Amino acid sequence: ALPTYHSNNSNSSLDTHFTNDLRKQLGIRGLIPPVVESFGQQKERCLEQIDSKTTSIDKYMYLANLRNSNVDLFYRLLIDNMPKITPLVYTPVVGEACLKWSHIYTQPEGLYLSWADRGKLREVLDNWREDQVDITVVTDGSRILGLGDLGVNGMGIPVGKLALYTGCAGIHPKRTLPITLDLGTNNEENLRDPLYLGAKMRRVSPSEMLEFLDEMMIALNDKWPGIIVQFEDLKDPFPSLERYRNTYTCFNDDIQGTGAVILAGVMNGFKQSGIPLDQHKLVFMGAGSAAVGVARQIVELFIKSGIPEEQARKQFWLVDSKGLVTNDRGDKLADHKLYFSRSDNDGKQFSSLEEVVDYVQPTGLMGLCTTGGVFTESIIRKMAQIAPRPIIFPLSNPVHKAECTFDEAMKYTDEKCIFASGSPFPDYTGKDGSVYHPGQGNNMYVFPGIGLGTLLCKAVHVSQEMIYASAKGLAEALNEEEHAQSWLYPSLDRIREVSVRVAREVIRSAQAENLDRNKKLQWLSDRELDDFIRDSMYDPREEYVSPAGSDVGSPRGSHL
Ligand code: NAP
Ligand code: MN
Repeated sequence: ALPTYHSNNSNSSLDTHFTNDLRKQLGIRGLIPPVVESFGQQKERCLEQIDSKTTSIDKYMYLANLRNSNVDLFYRLLIDNMPKITPLVYTPVVGEACLKWSHIYTQPEGLYLSWADRGKLREVLDNWREDQVDITVVTDGSRILGLGDLGVNGMGIPVGKLALYTGCAGIHPKRTLPITLDLGTNNEENLRDPLYLGAKMRRVSPSEMLEFLDEMMIALNDKWPGIIVQFEDLKDPFPSLERYRNTYTCFNDDIQGTGAVILAGVMNGFKQSGIPLDQHKLVFMGAGSAAVGVARQIVELFIKSGIPEEQARKQFWLVDSKGLVTNDRGDKLADHKLYFSRSDNDGKQFSSLEEVVDYVQPTGLMGLCTTGGVFTESIIRKMAQIAPRPIIFPLSNPVHKAECTFDEAMKYTDEKCIFASGSPFPDYTGKDGSVYHPGQGNNMYVFPGIGLGTLLCKAVHVSQEMIYASAKGLAEALNEEEHAQSWLYPSLDRIREVSVRVAREVIRSAQAENLDRNKKLQWLSDRELDDFIRDSMYDPREEYVSPAGSDVGSPRGSHL
């Protein structure tokens, strides 16, 4: 049976992709220009239109509109042009879009759960138009990227992130749900803005928020049992993760995804460094959710390599805005800093990074402190004296907040450093003319594969081991050419293949801990499992001829 065509359904469009037969059957002949187009032709038109727009916000809005009017074409375009389209759909442009969200708004996307609807969240979920949802990204807009409390203007983040779940790992777009919580905002500009689209009230208290989240988790799992919940950009991300990680299928990308993606780069970096694992000393500039997430993942690696946990923990020195984190510093440390807090400082306190570097003599320097330029020339030069190949990872985003540039790190270490950053840097041309490519520890290497793996094996929880496995999968995803050039991360052009590898490791890890509910996958060889993962990925194809957004005859995404 053919679907009835509803012109008022925003998800279906009159698509020049439709064959003449389909146009006849649907009774829409004459309503579309006569030519039947391939994706190739359609994409060419899209790219032309994107290039003709002068501002990135205009490009962003063009793509948002395309996603709403022609899902398949949007994803064909994204998948085939990852490096070009990703920055327009997600960071950095999504940040700009969120800042202006209430002003550039044209059409609804995602689901808003409001404080005013508490007690009724289950009913609100029933208003969502799709029957089945597999994964949701949830933010409360309280700490969007590095931009602070944006309130409901943060909706761009779950929308953009889920677009990457589909683009990078083929999670079916109809089965994704972006959620933004409206629990108020403490952003004065929002509160004063007549066009602000959220409740004009200050944020509810942390305990009220947890109560709200409790209701939301119950409601989500009642409506869609086993739904994967990915928390994103929460001001304090630790309480919700601790509260739900052992009860529901959930994870936090800011802590765990970041931890995994940087661990993967560090795994490859440690190998290149020539220093045994138990001899590494790592100084972290920054002791927030990302820094602690990364350090905890590296501790796992040390433990798995046979280093006792007590010893492994002591290979880390964390520096925050007050200096080296120590037990006797005289301030009350936030809970998440306690694990790495030092007690062997003989009463001495260190307030600057350079003092800490002199004192520790580290083999690696990780920057997660949101402050540009703090890896100074003098500090970088010292790193090169301490280690033959120092690890230097300025991970803060966006690029002007990076602790140093690739250029600086290469120059001041005589081209010896092992480097990865959070934001992209251009290649570096060495003194002898050889070209060096910087690693980029982009979370999109892992979260899509974590989601897909968890989904396909129907894992009960997203365990620490599964997160660790995602890093292992990523580290092993380099091909021969990338290895030969000493890259730390594979090319983003191959992201779908990388996601297959990450998903496989996540599934294997869930199986090892007996967290998988889809036991059938246990009997597959690695090759069969990779094929199964690949086949289940949404991948809009040329031969597909029914209205965009309908399932009829769809060969795409057999996990549906
Ligand atoms: P956060 O929770 O706000 O933590 C920031 C930390 O930096 C805090 O510990 C803060 O100290 C410290 N800090 C701030 N200014 C400092 C200064 N001048 N000197 C020393 N320490 C300073 O932020 P986050 O979520 O952890 O993110 C940190 C950075 O990591 C962001 O720039 C983000 O873009 C980046 N990041 C990168 C990736 C990636 O590369 N894949 C992923 C996620 C995040 P106090 O604790 O004393 O306030
Ligand atoms: Mn985030």
